[in-house]
Amino acid sequence: MSEFLISEFYEKLKEGNLVGVKCRKCGFYMLPPRMICRNCGTNDLEWVESSKTGVLETFTVVHVPPVGLGKEAPYIVGIIKLDNGGKVTARIEGFNPNEPEKIKIGSKVTLTPLTREGKPVLAFKPINQ
Ligand SMILES: [Zn+2]
Repeated sequence: MSEFLISEFYEKLKEGNLVGVKCRKCGFYMLPPRMICRNCGTNDLEWVESSKTGVLETFTVVHVPPVGLGKEAPYIVGIIKLDNGGKVTARIEGFNPNEPEKIKIGSKVTLTPLTREGKPVLAFKPINQ
């Protein structure tokens, strides 16, 4: 992903929108966005708004986080399969990281971006909980 794509992705996330890119030639959809179509190799791509809901596929509880996030540990990071395709790795809010046995794989989740030091962080929380 180029610098340009990353900053645009986070600009949109800041506004509460999740976006992927779609190939104008073959229609292949990619989230996270990439510069080049993984299916046909063209760079003729356009931004497409993603569904903001999806399903929690897997997760892990982070006890030893990267520098700067120490105060937040433990926290949960999961992989979300979005309703319209694409998968993202994101923070999972709304569950107690000290009770991982209560986190349900397959939970329906919705986008709820966090802000850390002025920057948006991709995060999801469960629906109906
Ligand atoms: Zn393509």
